[in-house]
Amino acid sequence: MAQRCYVVGNWKMHGMRADLSEARAIDRASLRLPKVEVAIAPPATLIATLRETVTQIGVGAQNCHRSEKGAHTGDISAPMLREAGADFVIVGHSERRADHGETNDDVKAKAEAAQAVDLGVILCVGESEEQRDSGEAEEIVARQLADCLPASAQRLSVAYEPIWAIGTGRVPSVQDVGTMHKWLRAVLMDRYGDEGKEIRILYGGSVKGDNAAELLSVPEVGGALVGGASLTADGFVPIIAAAS
Ligand code: PEP
Repeated sequence: MAQRCYVVGNWKMHGMRADLSEARAIDRASLRLPKVEVAIAPPATLIATLRETVTQIGVGAQNCHRSEKGAHTGDISAPMLREAGADFVIVGHSERRADHGETNDDVKAKAEAAQAVDLGVILCVGESEEQRDSGEAEEIVARQLADCLPASAQRLSVAYEPIWAIGTGRVPSVQDVGTMHKWLRAVLMDRYGDEGKEIRILYGGSVKGDNAAELLSVPEVGGALVGGASLTADGFVPIIAAAS
């Protein structure tokens, strides 16, 4: 059976309880758009409350620790996220790689820690502007993905997010998105065989209501990871509708 398009909002470090009214409106709109699988990853402080607030959409986390428990002040483990009500976790976002020095090895370990407690994983990869300009973006991102992949394909999705497109209003051409997604599909099939065909590869980076339909029509694009535009129903629902 063909999988539904997966549209995920990454709220980053935005969102107080008052903002849950936006999530409720997104949840209500999703009921009318059942062809799309919708989810929001709020800050960790809102996971449990969001879980109790919504009925249609998935709830996720933006990071987890690689260990199950231990002396890691300020960190949150995958089992804790699961208990709080998360269905999935985003790992390897470029902001975490930049702000916290996360390596490909960390990303792989985090993905495996999440899978161990049956959380879905959205594994992010993407090139810098310099790497894009070098003409070797596909080779670089394919290698990055190969280095981050967990041993199992269980509940795994991948998000291709060019760093230079995140929060900038700039997006790659549909040709470039298509070429990159083909490369990433090849890496997934090389690693997981036929199972690699089923893994959804999302595009992320300045997706908005007015460019979503075009980006989502690219072969091998199985959904979108959306930052800024996912914070309000007015921004997010048109993207979900475009995916429908
Ligand atoms: C993101 O950070 O995952 C993202 C895609 O952000 P934005 O949509 O704001 O570019």
